[in-house]
Formats: sequence, structure tokens, C-alpha cells
Amino acid sequence: MSKFDIPFADLNAQYQSLQPEIDAAMKSVIMDCAFINGPYAHTFENEFAQFCAAKHCVGVGNGTDALFIALKGLGIGAGDEVLIPAMTFVATGEAVSMAGAKPVFVDVEMRTGTICINDLRQKITPASKAVIPVHLYGHPADLKTIEAIANENELHVIQDAAQAHAATIDGQPLSDFGDCACYSFYPGKNLGAYGDAGAIVTNNTKFADFMRKFANHGRTDKYDHQFEGVNSRMDGLQAAVLSVKLKHLTQWTEQRRNIAAIYNRELSGIAGLTLLTPHSWAGHVYHLYVVLCEQRHSLQDFLLENGIACGRHYPVSLPFLEAYSHYGHVPENFPVAHTLQNSILSLPMYAELTEKQAMQVCSVISDFYKKYPNC
Ligand SMILES: *Cc1c(COP(=O)(O)O)cnc(C)c1O
Repeated sequence: MSKFDIPFADLNAQYQSLQPEIDAAMKSVIMDCAFINGPYAHTFENEFAQFCAAKHCVGVGNGTDALFIALKGLGIGAGDEVLIPAMTFVATGEAVSMAGAKPVFVDVEMRTGTICINDLRQKITPASKAVIPVHLYGHPADLKTIEAIANENELHVIQDAAQAHAATIDGQPLSDFGDCACYSFYPGKNLGAYGDAGAIVTNNTKFADFMRKFANHGRTDKYDHQFEGVNSRMDGLQAAVLSVKLKHLTQWTEQRRNIAAIYNRELSGIAGLTLLTPHSWAGHVYHLYVVLCEQRHSLQDFLLENGIACGRHYPVSLPFLEAYSHYGHVPENFPVAHTLQNSILSLPMYAELTEKQAMQVCSVISDFYKKYPNC
């Protein structure tokens, strides 16, 4: 049980709603000893490819590896630059460094937190080989424009879709764009396993075949290895859980959108609070519902006192992490990311959150700004 009246997310509530099915699925994986790759992983790969309206889905160990394996599959490595947004989870940068390339940070746009198109154009150099747009918070990056820029500059486009299962652009699936989309099934994502898992979704058959082998020791047969790869495979237990959950993802996405609509309605017009503004073409899936707020520290404390948990995604954007301090970035280089990191607050968001709970969150926030109207 959570110590909060309204937790930030509630994975247990989801398990309760699916328990018999999930328990049975896990039991059959164990009975069949189908622990690594195998029939359950293949079934899920096919189901998820179909869900994404794509030709191929390559199951891997986690979302970070999905990005890394996609970079390797596109031949990106030492001497290459890969453009990534400043505001994202560290994994986007790690994958680039793991591949031996250099992450080049691009500022983000204030209204969504996704990669800024103008700054992207300015950061392209002869060494740029790829861009990784991140569909931050579940809002797709502007892939139509990014694809056009990528074509002009011969860049690959690898989507970081870890927060954006089921997102669309003008009604089109993400798989219609770029070289591939990389997914994470970390337990807290919109589609989450009960451990680590990830996938790369693509329409390119040769690329998919390479990644499938690379993720499995470069193996063509049990002890026949075409090249050295890595060990990053989907495990059967995770795949079986994901197959059960995938059937509910469309409904869960609708429920997230309903909660977001309540937040949008109830929180607009509160002085001290700024809502993000999704683009009209965006099929946003609300992995997170993020607001920009004044007096964030006090607001977060006030929410906690009222039993409401919140998050910050992310409190330090990548250019300012100690891990990347050797690049010597200063706030003026990334004015938007720097402003966002100091004002973002993620409100409780999960499919099982009730309308009443969402209303409660809004009324506590409204009370806070009435009590402290000096902003
Ligand atoms: C979660 C996440 C990842 C990494 O996924 P893992 O499965 O945890 O490795 C990468 N990028 C973004 C934006 C994420 O949110």
C-alpha cells in the first residue's frame, strides 16, 4: 500500500485488475521453460509490431539497449555526432556514448518539452549522423519536420519512444517515420513489464535482421556467430506479461487522456501555473502530466502534506548533469531546458486514477495558489 492517498502511479492497482490472466501467463512460461527469447517473446514481438502498424519488432533487454542496438545497426560509432534533446532521461545520452559516438544536446521547446527545431538546425555539423527525437511525456516530437531536416542533411532518425506507446502524429503511427522507434517496457511506462524489457520497431527488414542477431551475440545458429554482438534479449516472463497487458493499452491510453482533460480544464487559469500546450497534430498519450509552476518547492510540499505524490521529470537536464560536465555547458546554451528543469512538476497520472482523485489534486493546487497569491 502506498503511504500517499493519491500516489504518483499505482502498478498494484493494475495488477489487481489483471491478476488471474497474468498469473496464468507467467505460470505457462515457467512450465514451458521458455525463459529467453522463445515462443512468448516471438508472440509479443508480432503483436507489438502489429499494434505499431510496423513490419518488425525486435525484442531486447531494455529501452536503453534498444537505442544502443539501433545506433549500432545504423553503423554509428566513433567520430560521429548524434543530436539529442537536452530534456530527457539520461538513457538517451548513455546509448549514444555506449555506441562510441558523441551526444550533442539540442534545446527543447517550452510548450511541450520536445526537441527544438530551430536549435536542431543550428547544431548540425558535418559529423552529425543521426538525431534521436524523444517523445517526452508521451507528446510526439515534430517528426514531419525532423524527417525533412534529416533528409536534407543525411541524418538517421531514431525515435526514443520510451514514453510514447500508442502515440500518433496526425493520426499516423510513429512507425511511419524515421528509421525506427525504440521502446522501453520498464514497469512504470505506459506499457510496462514486471522487470526490464525493450523493443525496436522498424519497417526495414535488413536492419531488423541485423539488430535481432546483434542483440543475441551475433548468432546465426546456436554456436555460429557471424559477428560479435551483445546479450540483450527479451525474456519470456516479461513477454508473457506484456502480451496480457497490450490488449488493454488502448483503453488505458483513453483513461490517461480523460485524466489529462480534467487537469487541463481544472488547472487552466490558475495564476502561478502554466500548462503545457500540445500541438494540434499530436496524439499525446500522457505518460506524464507536467505543469510549469511558480514556488515549486512549496507547492510540492503542500501536495505532500495533503497526501498527494508528485515527480520532477527531469530536475536536471542532460547538459547540466555531472555525467556530462566535461562538455562545459552553461545555462545560456540551453535557456529553455534550464527554465523547465526549475519549474516542471509531474502530477499523479495512471489509468486507474479516478476522476474524483484528479479533482482532488486540482483543488489542492488551487488552494495552494489562493493561500500564497504573491506569485
Ligand atoms: C525509460 C526511458 C528510457 C530507458 O528505458 P529503460 O528500459 O529503462 O532502459 C530511455 N528514454 C526515455 C525517454 C525513457 O523515459
